[in-house]
Amino acid sequence: MQLIFEKSHAGRGCDLLPACDVPEVQLPEELKREQPLRLPQLSETEISRHYSVLAKRAHGVNDGFYPLGSCTMKYNPRIDEEMAVLPGFTNIHPLQPESTVQGCKQVLDTAKQYLCEATGMDDITFQPAAGAHGEFTGLLLIKSYHEARGDKKRNKIIIPDAAHGTNPASASMAGFTVVTILSSPDGCVDLDALRASVGEDTAGLMLTNPNTVGIFDSNILEITDIIHQAGGLNYYDGANFNAIMGVVRPGDMGFDVVHLNLHKTFATPHGGGGPGSGPVACKSILQPYLPGCAIQNGQEEKLQLKAFHGNFLVVVKALTYMLTLGAEGIRSACEGAVLNANYMMAKLKDLYPVPYGKTCMHEFVLSLEELKKETGVSALDVAKSLIDHGIHPPTMYFPLIVHEALMFEPTETESRETLDEAAEVMRELYQMAHEDGAQMHDAPHHGQIKRPDEVLAARQPVLRYRCEQA
Ligand SMILES: *Cc1c(COP(=O)(O)O)cnc(C)c1O
Repeated sequence: MQLIFEKSHAGRGCDLLPACDVPEVQLPEELKREQPLRLPQLSETEISRHYSVLAKRAHGVNDGFYPLGSCTMKYNPRIDEEMAVLPGFTNIHPLQPESTVQGCKQVLDTAKQYLCEATGMDDITFQPAAGAHGEFTGLLLIKSYHEARGDKKRNKIIIPDAAHGTNPASASMAGFTVVTILSSPDGCVDLDALRASVGEDTAGLMLTNPNTVGIFDSNILEITDIIHQAGGLNYYDGANFNAIMGVVRPGDMGFDVVHLNLHKTFATPHGGGGPGSGPVACKSILQPYLPGCAIQNGQEEKLQLKAFHGNFLVVVKALTYMLTLGAEGIRSACEGAVLNANYMMAKLKDLYPVPYGKTCMHEFVLSLEELKKETGVSALDVAKSLIDHGIHPPTMYFPLIVHEALMFEPTETESRETLDEAAEVMRELYQMAHEDGAQMHDAPHHGQIKRPDEVLAARQPVLRYRCEQA
């Protein structure tokens, strides 16, 4: 398929801009482009067709089941999008007089109130643009807290080996040394290992609960207490908040700071590169270090992670979502997510071993290690074969503590029939692996693209379109 730049013809276009209603200003020479901006020039028909074709080639949650573990690819209600395109929200400017944007301030205040209630925290910042950005922000809060107390030796963050890869990456970017602790045989935090790893240099712990194998760590109060006793703070990775919302609160589990992924749990579609939102909520001890909106704080020198209030329209969607569901609905969405995951796991675990846990939370992890030994068919082969059945592959080879891992997160927005069908496909693939496994190495056979060369893609990635080639 041609790129839109390759379809471009000079002079063809459809730029119907409204008449200018403000005084024209001549830009100083040094601010002008040396070369005209290279935008594709196409008629409206061509543009419309181009994107329709692209949309048909992609697999979204509107096309079929999308059980991508840890990513919460659930259906996002239309009403949330409808609210976010209201002109009162879209046609505003962050520098316009505050008295003219009181409604928007109310959106932020109400969302703050609800999300603080849901997490058990005291205050929040909406600046971070995604989960990893939120982690980085939260870790800087922990850092500022220790520094403000003159406790400068606390430079270590403890992270379990099962953690999401962004956790150690964010800790290291925030200037901490990462201390990895191994999980216990049941996939949870090993309390002895944790006790042995804390000390006067402990800045804090980063944890997600349920963890990445989908298990709720029932020792959580003891875990967070060990860190507090050692003088550290507890960071909760709330990207998978779908698993606990309305049921348990990080604040009650002993956490001091948490980020949420509004673009996973709270109705913003994701996977296409944004915009997202990873607000960070914290207990009052961390409140003084929260990044500030420059406008609100006047003279104050505050940490800025992103301009103004971050991706405001994502907050509008999250608030709409919370208002439509209400407290009861939020709890029942969470319960549905956990029920669906357990239902699907129960339909598969006789064929595909589940290394950790008898029951799971919102997601479960299968190990295809035995299948691979018996048939040569890997987790990758099974994942790619799912594409031929109209199912998006689950998360693969993560968490690292499970070999040949496939991590399914069905979410609450899927029906029982969809789960039954997907489980049936997984059972058929198991059969096929034993009878005719060889052909699964080349799957997908009917996908939009065939099996890419993963090594080439990793070693020589083409990340940028080079205009001069066109
Ligand atoms: C998705 C996810 C993140 C990172 O969120 P981004 O918005 O992709 O940066 C962090 N932790 C966990 C557990 C996640 O699932």
